[in-house]
Amino acid sequence: MQSILDVRELEVAYKTQDGVVCALNDVDLVLHEGETLGLVGETGAGKTTLAKGIMRLIPSPPGIVKKGEILYRGKNLLQLGDDEMREIRGREISMIFQDPMTSLNPVMTVGEQIAEAVLAHGELPKQEVIQKTKQMLELVGIPPERSDEYPHQFSGGMKQRVIIAIALTCNPKILIADEPTTALDVTIQAQVLELMRELRKRLNTSMLLITHDLGVVAQNCDYVAIIYAGEIVEYGTVMEIFKDMRHPYTIGLFTSLPSLNKAVRRLIPIEGLMPDPMYLPKGCKFSERCKHAMDICREEHPKMSRVGGEHKVRCFLHQGQVPSEAENGR
Ligand code: SF4
Repeated sequence: MQSILDVRELEVAYKTQDGVVCALNDVDLVLHEGETLGLVGETGAGKTTLAKGIMRLIPSPPGIVKKGEILYRGKNLLQLGDDEMREIRGREISMIFQDPMTSLNPVMTVGEQIAEAVLAHGELPKQEVIQKTKQMLELVGIPPERSDEYPHQFSGGMKQRVIIAIALTCNPKILIADEPTTALDVTIQAQVLELMRELRKRLNTSMLLITHDLGVVAQNCDYVAIIYAGEIVEYGTVMEIFKDMRHPYTIGLFTSLPSLNKAVRRLIPIEGLMPDPMYLPKGCKFSERCKHAMDICREEHPKMSRVGGEHKVRCFLHQGQVPSEAENGR
């Protein structure tokens, strides 16, 4: 299948007064045309940095993209000028931020805010802007006559729908949704995700869905990437990961859930803490928490290796270097 976004060996760091924070280390990621990729990991693993990196929204300073490529339809976004990137942002790649409730301007009507997004990429006659604004509201299930109301007159779920309408206004090819439903209650979450699923199919938008909720991944994604301490540690189709997870961290994430069929699907933290990104361990980043850690894990850094189909894992247990241990590790 054709890729629309291809992140290669991306490395991002933040320079702080106390030292250099390694936020992303050698991240490789592929998003296929029309598909949804779930990016799963704990808080601080690098999910939002990756999303902002793709949008070229990492503040510099303190952020620095140390190396890598972000190929959108073969074009390296890291080499584009600011004007070209502004054109791509919103029109080609759109993002819904982690806290959508604060993304709306309280002193503008929702109609004005959608119209602003419509006009951000070119002048249009007033009548067309009004028409497009109403269409977008209808698309996300809000009666167009509410276009003159202010954000405070909307419920949380409705505000989130407005945010989605703004993000989809220019019919972007890629939508990056960073924890889009975390602030909503469970029923509304389900409705908003259902709406996003439906719109994505209808508009054939590819989506990078950032979440720490495996239930959301199971219901919405085609592919999954598990991120830990700024590295992708496992990648594959939803089926490959859910049926045959290999990395001890991924296994920890799944086994720490009471049951995938129960309503509570938040990740329960695995014993221990993610390493301080300023002082990452030399070998495998998960070695301090891994019950299968071997000497090699503390000394050498494992590479991603294919274990079948599109399934890849970053772990010495699955690199054929220590086959007998590999048996023990499963
Ligand atoms: Fe555990 Fe070693 Fe695999 Fe890292 S490489 S996850 S420490 S077994």
